Amino acid sequence: MTGEFDLIDRIRARVVARDDVRLGIGDDAAVLAVPAGLHLVVAVDTLNAGVHFPADTAPADIGWKALAVNLSDLAAMGAVPAWCTVSLSMPAADAPWVDAFLDGFDALARAHAVALVGGDTTRGPLSICVTVHGLVAPGRALRRSAACAGDDIWISGTPGDAAGALRQWRAGGAVEPALRERLDRPTPRLALGDALVGVAHAAIDVSDGLLADLGHVARASGLAAEIDLDDLPVSPALRAAFDADVRYRLQASGGDDYELCFTAPPSVADAVRDAARASATPVTRIGRMQAGAGVSVRLAGAPWAPQGAGWDHFAAAP
Ligand code: ADP
Ligand code: MG
Repeated sequence: MTGEFDLIDRIRARVVARDDVRLGIGDDAAVLAVPAGLHLVVAVDTLNAGVHFPADTAPADIGWKALAVNLSDLAAMGAVPAWCTVSLSMPAADAPWVDAFLDGFDALARAHAVALVGGDTTRGPLSICVTVHGLVAPGRALRRSAACAGDDIWISGTPGDAAGALRQWRAGGAVEPALRERLDRPTPRLALGDALVGVAHAAIDVSDGLLADLGHVARASGLAAEIDLDDLPVSPALRAAFDADVRYRLQASGGDDYELCFTAPPSVADAVRDAARASATPVTRIGRMQAGAGVSVRLAGAPWAPQGAGWDHFAAAP
């Protein structure tokens, strides 16, 4: 029978090496050399089985997603990731499960040179809580509150794909592989976030749905956001899988895409496109920030009202 310490040894054997980790897994706490002149940026997110991923999700995909959703928060701040910790609650000390989990987790950690420096391992319902630490130059973080009236609103990628996969999965039929990939293996837009520092005003990552998350930017900035549904980028897979009515709702209100929604003045639109090109990340202009409050959506020139503006964990199911 595998014990807690065997599991920790397995985890430690696969950690990405970084010179700034003075003491990693194995002591009571990690010791990290924070570069002088930079600010530490910290985020945490928990994934609970059945809530944040379907119960049949492969362990490697859970590992990827647990880190990806956290790195996405750093991307939305324009921060460069450095270290992370993992608190793992699982029903039994299941070594093959942990190995498979690490396959996904490490693939993403290695891609972004993120060192796992500690954590906690406990028995309980399957739940993964990851904390990430990143770095940003003082005063340069991309805040939700920094949008200005007249800013263009931009989105990366094609929002709605992850929610499309979830909708197909809930319906019990086949799930389009391209959509399932977007649900299970979201891409944290780190290179884009980094390239937007000094270009974009405000940024947020879309975890709860475009309208809900853009609403956070509008509220924090004391402004209104206006977007046009016709301008939202749509993936071929999503277009093929749903009729327009359902698709619009998935694009506007579906969560779990981890794309970046950001604002920038029209005068720097070329710099935004340069940042997108440099980071090999597609971006699309979808609307404008204005004086006022709330998020308004137009479709073919007329106001469009969604059913529910996003995912709220404590609200009744739609
Ligand atoms: P303590 O009792 O002092 O908290 P633990 O026995 O929980 O120490 O952990 C021993 C070491 O293993 C610590 O360095 C801790 O950070 C690390 N660790 C425990 N669980 C994990 C995990 N799931 N992932 C990464 N490191 C872990
Ligand atoms: Mg402990």
